[in-house]
Amino acid sequence: MGRIYLLDVTNRDGVQTARLGLSKLAKTMINIYLNEMGVFQSEFGFPTTRHESHYLRANLKLAEMGVLQPIRLEGWLRATVEDVETAYRLVPNIKHLNLSISTSKQMIVGKFKGAKSEQDILTMAIEALDVARSHGAETVGINAEDASRTDIDFLLRFASAGKEHGADRFRYCDTLGYDNPFTIYETCKLLAEEVGIPIELHCHSDLGMAVANSVAGAMGIIDGGQDAYINTTINGIGERAGNADLVAVILALKKSKGLAPKYKFDTPIKLNRAWKICKYASYAFGVPIPINQPGVGVNVFAHASGIHADGVLKDPQNYELYDFKELGRGEPETVETGREICSGQYGGTAGFGHIMGKMEVEFKDKGEAERILELVRYANVLAQKPLVEDELKFIAKYPDIAKELMTIAPLE
Ligand SMILES: [Zn+2]
Repeated sequence: MGRIYLLDVTNRDGVQTARLGLSKLAKTMINIYLNEMGVFQSEFGFPTTRHESHYLRANLKLAEMGVLQPIRLEGWLRATVEDVETAYRLVPNIKHLNLSISTSKQMIVGKFKGAKSEQDILTMAIEALDVARSHGAETVGINAEDASRTDIDFLLRFASAGKEHGADRFRYCDTLGYDNPFTIYETCKLLAEEVGIPIELHCHSDLGMAVANSVAGAMGIIDGGQDAYINTTINGIGERAGNADLVAVILALKKSKGLAPKYKFDTPIKLNRAWKICKYASYAFGVPIPINQPGVGVNVFAHASGIHADGVLKDPQNYELYDFKELGRGEPETVETGREICSGQYGGTAGFGHIMGKMEVEFKDKGEAERILELVRYANVLAQKPLVEDELKFIAKYPDIAKELMTIAPLE
């Protein structure tokens, strides 16, 4: 029986969303929280984008140090030989890649404007795959952009060619959120059966079905005898109407009628980290969590109407499908309502000492404290908002890594 793996793409699809972005420190914290939650893989960035290079290398060091373990860190790039070469020049230690190319007639005609045929697409993808392998990539996924609008015969050829050339996975991208649960189930089951390769699902919410499509697609893949890798983002943040929400996907697979016994995660997912990771991503992106967001919205465990309040007081299961504690909710949170000392890019030693002292972080001498303060100033320059406790602790614990990942120098 195939299993389900989570592959979070917040640090790729989330950050390429219009009007949104994350500092490199925030991206690092997301990787740390995803790892703590038990997410299998983080698509942690763009190995061909120069301002990502230091961040990507520093995070790979965190993996080597055992800090970002067992999560896999994988980079996304276009399926061209040139991009793979650039990726290995800028980030030589990268071990996991996903190579993406458009496969639909719409894209081939509308984007490539007739400059490429289906055969060209196949050739480009295979050459890029072979080059990635020659550089020592441990795993390579091959992504069909706009797969849901691609002729099924070509999609089968594309996935099969990838398999023959040693791709570890095929990513089925419902790039425009065009599928519905019935179509994606059928297509993915067919792909799993015919090609015999583990399949990733990359679903978007243009029609409000990203989570439902991800779950239905995973069912199709597993019923077709393969492992399913679901692409998620925290709070569903992603291009246009967003991606499949991480927490909603987990809740759906664990709690929806009849799913859990048959469609299982490969390893246990710590759902009780949901509250923390969603709150952090909301702060880091500067996007509030909608009050009705599954699992983590403020109204999800709130009851006002008489019948519901009476029912939930008698037995929460009358009106709640799952308990707030399962999501890591229920702990009181302290919010300053009076004087507050924040970290900032122009901060000094007194304020910094106060903040770190409250967190019970001690420095071995004045020099160390000065050095951490300097890094905190730079982190604030990049974040443009006060740092949270975990970010400050991270900088204090791994100053060299923090320095490396925050290094951004435009080329001449
Ligand atoms: Zn996407």
